[in-house]
Amino acid sequence: MAEAHRLDCEAAASGCRFIIQSENEDEAVSLAQQHMEEVHGKDFTEEELRTDHLQVV
Ligand SMILES: [Zn+2]
Repeated sequence: MAEAHRLDCEAAASGCRFIIQSENEDEAVSLAQQHMEEVHGKDFTEEELRTDHLQVV
């Protein structure tokens, strides 16, 4: 099975159960960025999300 890129929102914004998982890293990052902005009003750069929050599972 291929690796997946996963971002558990709870690690970035406590109390949020949103989980993004995709085999495509760019897609995971872009979905995460969109979620952070729309739901949490937080402006993360792709770099921050990629290095600080994205896990490979
Ligand atoms: Zn969230």
